[in-house]
Amino acid sequence: KLSAKNLNLSFADKQVLKNISVSFAENEITALIGPSGCGKSTLLRSFNRMHDLFPYAKINGELFLEDLDLYAKNVPVTEIRKRIGMVFQKANPFPKSIYENIAYGLKINNLPCNKEVVQKALEEAYLWDEVKNDLKMPATRLSGGQQQRLCIARAVALRPEVILMDEPCSALDPVSTLKIEDLIKHLKKKYTIVIVTHNMQQAQRIADKTVFMYLGEVKEEGTTDDIFNNPKNEMTANYISGYF
Ligand code: ATP
Ligand code: MG
Repeated sequence: KLSAKNLNLSFADKQVLKNISVSFAENEITALIGPSGCGKSTLLRSFNRMHDLFPYAKINGELFLEDLDLYAKNVPVTEIRKRIGMVFQKANPFPKSIYENIAYGLKINNLPCNKEVVQKALEEAYLWDEVKNDLKMPATRLSGGQQQRLCIARAVALRPEVILMDEPCSALDPVSTLKIEDLIKHLKKKYTIVIVTHNMQQAQRIADKTVFMYLGEVKEEGTTDDIFNNPKNEMTANYISGYF
């Protein structure tokens, strides 16, 4: 579904991703784990062409979503970002109303935008019941967990195929975190989901597959069960046991 083959990425002369080949399957949740600085966020962002803005970023390799070559010259970045949604650690709603947060993306992507579509996206992100009477309220007044679900609603509103999540729960309390985990498990019925997390319990609670990265390389990947109960790589074993 979503894949990278022989992906190398450098910022100036510092190589951050080293010959990464990995793929993420439909209707599965993959957890991306590894120590701080190993390149998890950089890998996620490379699928979304987030480094286009950095002239000093050098990237090569084959990145595909189905048969769409994500780095083909004629592929508009807007199409990629519509098909591959992204959710960040710090919820980043637009400084607009709750309604407009959903409507804005629909409009700029020329998708039908009306109350029903907005409601459906909010329902899909488990937020509708909490906000249905406050759609005109500035989104920034929502709680952190609600803002994060709004960002998820904003992504799903565009009917993406993939949702990439970069530590979506790490700024949240345990209750909001569990709510979002429930939501993510529900979303996997429709989407390919990749989630970066430093929370090993979270990876085990929600992920079907786990990929372990270390110093810019994928060191080990497999079912979450195998990675956590039967790691083959010493680095993986050390990392998941909290050794570094
Ligand atoms: P964390 O768990 O702390 O979020 P990470 O695994 O997500 O870490 P990245 O953010 O991908 O790590 O960073 C990998 C390396 O790339 C780091 O050494 C970082 O300093 C470097 N890096 C990331 N973005 C840039 C950039 N825009 N310019 C230069 N270097 C960068
Ligand atoms: Mg990161």
